[in-house]
Amino acid sequence: MAQDFIGLSIDLGALMRNWAALAAHAPSAKAGAVVKADAYGLGADQVVPALYAAGVRNFFVAQTSEGRAIRPLLADDARIFILEGARPGDDVAGLIPVINSPEQWFRHQAGGPTRPFAVQIDTGMSRLGLAPDDWAALRSELLAAGPALLMSHLYCADEPDHPANTRQLAAFHAMTDGCDVPRSLAATGGILLGADYHFDIVRPGVGLYGGQPFAGAEPVVRLDIPIIQSRWVEAGAEIGYGASFTADRRMRIATLGAGYADGLPRVLGGRLRLWSGGQAVPAVGRVSMDAITADVTALEDIPAALEIIGKNQSVDDLAEQAGTIGYEILTSLGRRYPRRYLSADGGD
Ligand SMILES: *Cc1c(COP(=O)(O)O)cnc(C)c1O
Repeated sequence: MAQDFIGLSIDLGALMRNWAALAAHAPSAKAGAVVKADAYGLGADQVVPALYAAGVRNFFVAQTSEGRAIRPLLADDARIFILEGARPGDDVAGLIPVINSPEQWFRHQAGGPTRPFAVQIDTGMSRLGLAPDDWAALRSELLAAGPALLMSHLYCADEPDHPANTRQLAAFHAMTDGCDVPRSLAATGGILLGADYHFDIVRPGVGLYGGQPFAGAEPVVRLDIPIIQSRWVEAGAEIGYGASFTADRRMRIATLGAGYADGLPRVLGGRLRLWSGGQAVPAVGRVSMDAITADVTALEDIPAALEIIGKNQSVDDLAEQAGTIGYEILTSLGRRYPRRYLSADGGD
């Protein structure tokens, strides 16, 4: 990527290679794509058509409104599953709601018998999906109505040795073997657990966007923040809200134009690092709503911008420093950044 763009760069080519790499891990299954939360913050309007062009036909979002937003971007042969299912009053025409509870099933039926649906069964996460006894009670009725997919979700798949994985796999088999309906269990972590977990459709999300637990992911995001001003301060100068940092010598301080309102966690104040080329630049003082201050004394020239996510510091590196996960950093990326999409075929 060219270095001269200041803002959020999203490499759709890398995203497509991550999808293809995850698909290659599960050759016996069809690889779908999870594009909820605006494609993990990266822009569903750009990401969804690129994935369709790469061959994705099964898309997963969390909520009906997200499905409505991407439906016009896709041809009729693309299916859009609504993971949390429909809420009362939702218009699910052209979408496939996932039935997670008896209430959702009764409501779905009331809307007409021919509408497509999928079924999620809870195999241990206790979050979404029919409880095993509800599944047992409704199973023959649901199967008779012809679900498009039977699915469940792994809750410890990023820890390959966690005993919950094999427990959930066994439960999923016990509840769905012989149903003769396509099945789906694995998200990114489950794909990496191996072929036993793949079934008919896999549902990668975070790995597409360059995040852990897909260690082989190519980075998709680069974020450079502009330096708005810089000046010298004398020893003893207090920097930022709460005077949490005091200059211990004459220092050159740069103010960068992004803050916690742009998804840069305030908790990073005091330990955040930015980068100029390969040189680390420590942030000093608190992260404020729209600004970060950094000690640029060691830089010979003041650059136009500093890198905060890129080859020196990944989304997951930043997440770890903030005590969170890459998913949260990605989905918090602000709407204020100028955005540039590097297209899947290599151009801008
Ligand atoms: C978010 C989600 C996914 C994608 O998970 P990743 O860990 O991002 O790959 C798949 N299935 C369900 C049910 C989800 O909620």
